[in-house]
Amino acid sequence: MPRDLFALTCKRPIAGEIMSIQNITCIVCPRGCRLEVDPERGEVKGNSCPRGREHGLAEATNPTRTLTTTVRVVDENGATIELAPARTAAPIPKGLLFDAMKAINDVSLTKPVRRGDTIISNLLNTGVAVIATRDLL
Ligand code: SF4
Repeated sequence: MPRDLFALTCKRPIAGEIMSIQNITCIVCPRGCRLEVDPERGEVKGNSCPRGREHGLAEATNPTRTLTTTVRVVDENGATIELAPARTAAPIPKGLLFDAMKAINDVSLTKPVRRGDTIISNLLNTGVAVIATRDLL
């Protein structure tokens, strides 16, 4: 495929090329500003406030997400009786979400579960904990 055609059809930069401007919707508040982010130059356009600049640069270079999920609660026989709502205590790299779900699916809890209990203390060596978000007594 000719190099120019590849550049038009693929968003990934070709080795040695400058990373192109990324169009990102800011999700920090409901206004949803459309951002143009140039990660190479650290420039952001289209943001209506400083939080948009911070979000745009982070999203373009190291996107992260808070993972919200559930964890199995089992009885004394190991049978699932309920699902406990849980989330990561801080955002984790977006690329780890799939592996994080696998790690969380391997965990089970027994009652009582209290809101704020640590379920996993260091998820995938990110330094981020998984915590319960509701009491199950
Ligand atoms: S740039 Fe500021 S005003 Fe616009 S969506 Fe982001 S946080 Fe909201």
